[in-house]
Parts: sequence; structure tokens; C-alpha cells
Amino acid sequence: MKNIVIFGAPGSGKGTQSDLLVKKYGFKHISTGDVLRAEMKNGTELGRTAKGFIDNGQLIPDELMIDILAATYDSLMPAEGVIFDGFPRTIPQAEALKDMLAKRNAEVSVMLELDVPDEMLIERLVNRGKTSGRADDNEETIKKRLTVYNNQTAPLIDWYEKEGLRRAVKGYGSLEEINAELCKVIDSL
Ligand code: ATP
Ligand code: MG
Repeated sequence: MKNIVIFGAPGSGKGTQSDLLVKKYGFKHISTGDVLRAEMKNGTELGRTAKGFIDNGQLIPDELMIDILAATYDSLMPAEGVIFDGFPRTIPQAEALKDMLAKRNAEVSVMLELDVPDEMLIERLVNRGKTSGRADDNEETIKKRLTVYNNQTAPLIDWYEKEGLRRAVKGYGSLEEINAELCKVIDSL
């Protein structure tokens, strides 16, 4: 079974590329952002907690995220493959993912990194904000999210490099081109 981490800054195209991979390979998809937005929409207690962080461009606390991730993962089993989109976002989350999978006799197969320059990210997210209805897709919050990404999430690049799992791909150009690069890596696993 393949456990694939799709990694990149906000707006790098994790969700879009995950959907294409799901179509091609039939993998299950865990988007922690989507899980949290569904909770917010349903007005659950978790959703109300999440909203406070998300609207501020902050991350949800690790312990909470790790529990949500494990429950979501187990609910999707059995699966031929799982794509982790938006998780891990911190080093403790990466360590927790490794432990969680080890307990289930599994491991991360690869970390696919989508590389996109900052100016392009801001432009994409500001554009997405016009139609997404997402309160966090406004310029001020986008800038906060990029800072949080650089401080808390980007250190995972080295972390996965040391694990021997990091594969970086150019995250701009046509969707098909990017997808083809990701598929090449997956097919080589
Ligand atoms: P992309 O555009 O590449 O899909 P995104 O920045 O839009 O990325 P989402 O994954 O949709 O991000 O997440 C939206 C928000 O949900 C984050 O800014 C954060 O507040 C919260 N969140 C999502 N995943 C996590 C996580 N693993 N840990 C903490 N907070 C998270
Ligand atoms: Mg997303």
C-alpha cells in the first residue's frame, strides 16, 4: 500500500494535483483543510475551534490535528493508497505520522514536493479568493499563511530529505505537465 505525502506552500496546488492522482490511481485522499472546512460548515465544536485559527492564518494545534488525522485514516481503510494533502505541516506532525503508520505496519512511501515561487502563490490565492468563498483567501491572511509556512512547515523539506523520501517537482506550468511528473515518481515506487 502506498502512503503519499503531497507537500507544498498554500496555493501550491496540492488539492488540484491530489484530485488528478485520485482519478488515475484510485487512491483515497485526506485533505486536512477540507476536513476542517466541513466541520466549520456543520458548525461542530471542532469547526468552531478550527475557525479561530484558520481565519487568522494560524495552524490548528498539533495534538488536535494528529487525532483527526488518525481517525480519518482509519475510516478510509482498506485502501490501495492514501494521499496526505495538508498533513504533516509541522515536524511533530511528521513524527506522529511516521509512528501512526508504523503501528499499522505501514510507512510513508514518498513525499512529493510542489515548488512554486512566492509571487505566484500570492497571485493564485488572491485569484482563488474571488470565487472560493474562503475567508482565509484574502491578501492579509495569505501573507500570514506564507509566513507560517516558511517558519513551521518548510523545515519538513530537510526532515523528509533526511528520511530519503523527498522528491521535488516544478509546481507551475500546465496541470497535465505537473501531473505527469508526479506520476513518473509514483510509478517508480
Ligand atoms: P493548498 O492551496 O495547497 O491546498 P491551503 O493553504 O489552501 O493549501 P489547506 O490545506 O486547505 O491549505 O488548509 C487551510 C487551513 O487549515 C490552514 O491554513 C490551517 O489553518 C488549517 N490546517 C490544515 N491542515 C493543517 C494541519 N495539518 N495542521 C494544522 N493546521 C492545519
Ligand atoms: Mg487545499
